[in-house]
Amino acid sequence: MKCETHSSEATAVCTYCGRALCPQCERASSSPRIACSEACADALAKADRAIKLVLTKNIQGARITAYYLYILGAIFVAVGIYGYILYPRMRVVHPMAAACGIALIAFGFSFHRLAKRG
Ligand SMILES: [Zn+2]
Ligand SMILES: [Zn+2]
Repeated sequence: MKCETHSSEATAVCTYCGRALCPQCERASSSPRIACSEACADALAKADRAIKLVLTKNIQGARITAYYLYILGAIFVAVGIYGYILYPRMRVVHPMAAACGIALIAFGFSFHRLAKRG
């Protein structure tokens, strides 16, 4: 593979457009990633920002999901405890509700941890 500008042996490829680059072309770019031109470096930076934005949104989504799970879990636990007080005879249903609630809260914790990692 030869560099299109200098017709010397290419050592790299533009991350954005895939053009073959020699070490001289590679150095022309200010981007941390290999790009053939400032335009390609700009496009790469824009793509990076877009990816970061999507990731941030996903993290926010995970955090919201975690809070929903906490609330839902708390409701289930409350129903279990409240039901146990109101209807002590229904012994199977209430612990099950409480267990579901605890499981939901545990799910919420794992989502929260996921959100924090990002
Ligand atoms: Zn390029
Ligand atoms: Zn070149």
